[in-house]
Amino acid sequence: MDSQKQRISILGAGLVGSLLSIFLAKKGYSVTIFERRSDMRKAGAIGGRSINLALSRRGLKALEAVGLKEKVQESCIPMPGRMIHDLEGNLSFQPYGKEGQFINSVSRGGLNELLMSEAEAHGVEIRFNHKCEEVDFDTATAHFENGEKVSADFLFGADGAFSALRSAMQKTDRFNYTQEYISAGYKELTMPPTANGDFALDPNALHIWPRGEYMLIALPNLDKSFTCTLFFPFEGKISFEAIKTEDDVQQFFESKFKDALPFLPELKTEFFENPTSSLITVRCKPWVKGNTALIGDAAHALVPFYGQGMNAGFEDCFVFNELLEKHGAINPALLAEYEALRIPDGNAIADLALYNFIEMRDKVADPMFVLQKKIEKRLNELFPKKWVPLYTMVTFSDFRYSEAHALGKKQQAIMDQVLAQPNIEENWEGLDFDEIVGRL
Ligand code: FAD
Repeated sequence: MDSQKQRISILGAGLVGSLLSIFLAKKGYSVTIFERRSDMRKAGAIGGRSINLALSRRGLKALEAVGLKEKVQESCIPMPGRMIHDLEGNLSFQPYGKEGQFINSVSRGGLNELLMSEAEAHGVEIRFNHKCEEVDFDTATAHFENGEKVSADFLFGADGAFSALRSAMQKTDRFNYTQEYISAGYKELTMPPTANGDFALDPNALHIWPRGEYMLIALPNLDKSFTCTLFFPFEGKISFEAIKTEDDVQQFFESKFKDALPFLPELKTEFFENPTSSLITVRCKPWVKGNTALIGDAAHALVPFYGQGMNAGFEDCFVFNELLEKHGAINPALLAEYEALRIPDGNAIADLALYNFIEMRDKVADPMFVLQKKIEKRLNELFPKKWVPLYTMVTFSDFRYSEAHALGKKQQAIMDQVLAQPNIEENWEGLDFDEIVGRL
């Protein structure tokens, strides 16, 4: 399909649909986005609670390709590492990578608004209050709740974890689909600026209170507040279900998140008024049917523990754009290559994100984990091309997720052997690093 006057429909003006529309409009396609909700820019939807996200290399690379990297980075707060808060409130900082490497805290609403406005500036039409309910694959026709039907030459489902396009695909033969909820959910809480108007915590870190089965995290906002997220089991002895009264909340935070408590003035209200949301992983195959394709969370919903959902969705757009340059048009060869590249990568980052919950809520507090990071840092300094720590491959490189996952497993097996050596805590500097790298 040549770009000349070809009409593309995109379901969803979220982060991925809005960015995808810019890539396609720049290539000369006539793009219309259909969004279920009203226009958040008019409704003032982000005037209330700020919710933020970690933006890293893959996302930035895609934004750079449409000329938006600098503009977005102006409203980002760099987070070069994790700040771990122990039960007593003692702090320890763990850098994410090398000097100069950081992830970026960015406002979800602010970024979404910017992308929608940029899309419109490139001639994209966004039709709000259009909830898609059904799709005809061959004619790329979307059927909306209001009775409208709109056909196009090609249609993308960028309509999130509960995608209408994917639901339509699920009703067809030989469509593979799995979804899995984890036993924890999450609740967002606000940590406003202090009485002096300062950040309550160091703004240049992603704060974690790792507590084994659960954790609290906090990411900074430009208005000097933090958005805190409690990841917590739904049911059980220590769970959302078990915390029933304001006193329960107070006692729980006093015993587990003592140093955060003074900075959470609305905790007791927010705990009961803010929603408790669930966390899902979705995998499916194929992503393409007739003249339609899935992208972003619609294709691969992830749990948020690697901070990669949006980054992976932005990378989908980047890769699709590269394929468009290679193939010259949206055609079967391009679509086959899109699936061949992105389905394994979507599955790999889904696995990695599930694993990282354990790392964040538990392992970061373990001295052996800290030692492993030190040894891997040394290996990376000595052999920068051969030994790249998994977190670095995922967050600060554009290694394919599937390759990072496979290499990460190999590295972990080697590190397990290294860490099992007697008195490794005292002797690690004397390790034969050449020999260790040789095991790869
Ligand atoms: P969405 O953002 O879900 O957008 C989908 C859009 O489609 C929405 O606007 C929706 O209204 C619209 N829509 C839905 N159904 C229809 C329909 N039937 N018809 C028309 N429109 C429809 N990712 C990161 O990279 N870094 C992070 O730090 C990070 N933190 C996260 C923290 C939490 C708690 C969660 C839950 C997620 C986090 N993510 C993070 C993941 C990230 O939010 C998602 O990957 C990202 O929002 C996906 O973008 P999307 O556009 O594909 O989907």
